[in-house]
Amino acid sequence: MILPPKNIMCSSHGLKILGRYAWDDIIPYEQGVNESIRKFRGDDGNFYYVKMNSPRYKLFEKNNICVACGLVGFVYLLERRREDEDIAHFNLYGVENNTLILMTKDHILPKANGGKDRMDNYQTMCYICNQIKTNLEIRPELVGQMRQCFVLPHAREQRYITL
Ligand SMILES: [Zn+2]
Repeated sequence: MILPPKNIMCSSHGLKILGRYAWDDIIPYEQGVNESIRKFRGDDGNFYYVKMNSPRYKLFEKNNICVACGLVGFVYLLERRREDEDIAHFNLYGVENNTLILMTKDHILPKANGGKDRMDNYQTMCYICNQIKTNLEIRPELVGQMRQCFVLPHAREQRYITL
């Protein structure tokens, strides 16, 4: 298992990285809102609390591969927006051209077009394919073809972290 080096402690997307876990180490846990909170050890040795009932974790447990381009999400970064936030969360990333790319929970039928927040309307997509698809109802194969023409932007773009 290749994980990003430990010296990435500060990311360009404004989130503080607290730790890193392999994709298959993170098991969703659905109970009442409070009972679903689990603690995870960060790189600094401290424990951080994460709500493990997010549908994202369930989706990524089922499929960690972008349905359009095939990018594999293999590392969960434990992240927190602000120092004073009590709850951290996991984001799943794949790597392309030495750059971490966020994996997203895409709505197959876009919400803007009446798509529901339900597991059977979710699919795993990398951030780039998700941006290409936006609110269009286009097949993953077509998104994948459009993605071939996509050049990774400079790392200052949000959601990209240069390794
Ligand atoms: Zn993709």
